[in-house]
Amino acid sequence: MGINMLIGLIAAYFIYNDAKKLGQPFFTSLLWAVASIPMSIVIVPLYLLLGRKPNIDRQRKADPDIIDIEATVVEETTPCPMCGSKVQESFLVCPYCKHTLQLKCQSCGNEIERESKVCPYCQSQIDYK
Ligand SMILES: [Zn+2]
Ligand SMILES: [Zn+2]
Repeated sequence: MGINMLIGLIAAYFIYNDAKKLGQPFFTSLLWAVASIPMSIVIVPLYLLLGRKPNIDRQRKADPDIIDIEATVVEETTPCPMCGSKVQESFLVCPYCKHTLQLKCQSCGNEIERESKVCPYCQSQIDYK
């Protein structure tokens, strides 16, 4: 009996941590863990078979919006300050009028202020074109 209990506790610890890692709700993790203490031989295989997968599906069903938003994400556009064309925020240069939208350091790639003479991150000189 003592050894069964010990195995049960180890199984419970494993299941609880595993469920938490998978992002399952606290209550579900606890339920699996508690159930595995007296019946680890049954619950552990059951958990591995059923406890892990359906929860991932449930998460997807619970948040269909998140996936939809991710799939249809369109990058924000802003008007070019020079010519007014719609440009994506990640653009470095306006493709229509060649106006510099964002200045990035040539050596370290960090974004820097338009007026900077020296990169504040790596101290390299900024030469404007
Ligand atoms: Zn432009
Ligand atoms: Zn730099």
